[in-house]
Amino acid sequence: MASAPVRVRFCPSPTGNPHVGLVRTALFNWAFARHAKGTLVLRIEDTDAARDSEESYEQLLDSLRWLGLDWDEGPEVGGPHAPYRQSQRMEIYADVAARLQDAGHAYRCYCTTEELDARRDAARAAGKPSGYDGHCRDLTSEQTAAYEAEGRTAIVRFRMPEHPITFNDLVRGELTFTPENVPDYGIVRANGAPLYTLVNPVDDALMEITHVLRGEDLLSSTPRQIALYAALIELGVAKYTPEFGHLPYVMGEGNKKLSKRDPQASLNLYRERGFLPQGLLNYLSLLGWSFSADQDTFTMDEMVAAFEIEDVNANPARFDLKKAEAINADHIRRLDVKTFTEACGPWLRAPHAPWSPENFDQAAWEAIAPHAQTRLTVLSDITANVDFLFLDAPVDDEASWLKAMKEGSDALLLTAREQLAAADWNAEALKNAVLAAGEAHGLKLGKAQAPVRVAVTGRTVGLPLFESLEVLGRDRTLARIDAALAKLGA
Ligand code: GLU
Ligand code: ZN
Repeated sequence: MASAPVRVRFCPSPTGNPHVGLVRTALFNWAFARHAKGTLVLRIEDTDAARDSEESYEQLLDSLRWLGLDWDEGPEVGGPHAPYRQSQRMEIYADVAARLQDAGHAYRCYCTTEELDARRDAARAAGKPSGYDGHCRDLTSEQTAAYEAEGRTAIVRFRMPEHPITFNDLVRGELTFTPENVPDYGIVRANGAPLYTLVNPVDDALMEITHVLRGEDLLSSTPRQIALYAALIELGVAKYTPEFGHLPYVMGEGNKKLSKRDPQASLNLYRERGFLPQGLLNYLSLLGWSFSADQDTFTMDEMVAAFEIEDVNANPARFDLKKAEAINADHIRRLDVKTFTEACGPWLRAPHAPWSPENFDQAAWEAIAPHAQTRLTVLSDITANVDFLFLDAPVDDEASWLKAMKEGSDALLLTAREQLAAADWNAEALKNAVLAAGEAHGLKLGKAQAPVRVAVTGRTVGLPLFESLEVLGRDRTLARIDAALAKLGA
């Protein structure tokens, strides 16, 4: 198998919004496949009709496309193992479940929940292993007939071997599970619905998956799946047992596992804030892996070239929003100006932009964009940075006004207005104008600049002021200073 071409899978269940843990799993599988020039299979595990939704399915595909995590086989691209949605593969699972029972690898278990609970409690009280006790393992045909006559329903259970199971986890090294810790487990519900425990390894087998890379939360299912593989190989359903690697937990605030329901975990949040896909993926790749000791920002091509599953660290990884933002900011700076200018598009239009659409001026935007590019953490920051160009009047930010408008600001603004009115309209000359106005009032540039900035943009912080004034133009600049002077009663 080591020589078989790499085939990995990403197999989400379409329940709810995609979260960052899911994306990290998708990313590591994708990077592993691309690095090995192998195949990434996308399989949709939608056998739970009560929890799965078509909307989540569409969102998943849309998210993967946005991220640029492309798949080689799966929904919409097809492939030799189609269909790739488990809801369309039910006959396959029924057939395999029947064959497992015929061969004695699985059996019907008639125990009721009450009986199971009572025996589990008794085992616990006696200090014995509390998993399924094998009650129905070897029922005689008379016992089976009697249960059936009582009208009992049965689940199908897989018969675990009585020896320990050892495997070499690609991330964690050698792991051994003893039989008392891995009791016989259900693979088909009483109503005939196949469970994750069956459908996931059956499809991995049929789709000839060579490496299973998934979250640590699934580690306990691995010994069960390895035992099931042995049976599937015997039945000719599987060709080999894949290798397994379990990716570390992602921790959120307060040293707790980041949960799907954590708002911080929602992929949509990052997308709506204007993370670049490459910025977010770059950050997520650091949850358990590192590119190099002294470089945290890199391209996906660089990640693919460097990615080795053996380098993944088994220790829990901490989700650090500040670091994610810093890396995203790096990626924004790395864009060429034209790409940056286009990428901001959605945040310059409704519903993000607070100005009327006819106020938007593409030439002004293109002129200011290079000055904005180095200052953004996320693309959505752009709206507040350039709104002074497209709003009829600057935003009315009381806190900024109080901070900048001091005793003497009116006199300073009057002088600045005169100097600006007489200046050539380019950033250099505008700077000299404000500098001269400051000197006339004994103020350094920084202090002289503050009231001008607030008068013109409404805010104390923003893009470089003189470039901003240059783009805004003489008439609007002077009109805004006049409005500020009127407000100051000057
Ligand atoms: N559908 C499973 C999940 O979303 C896949 C688990 C696995 O990778 O085996 O958790
Ligand atoms: Zn039973």
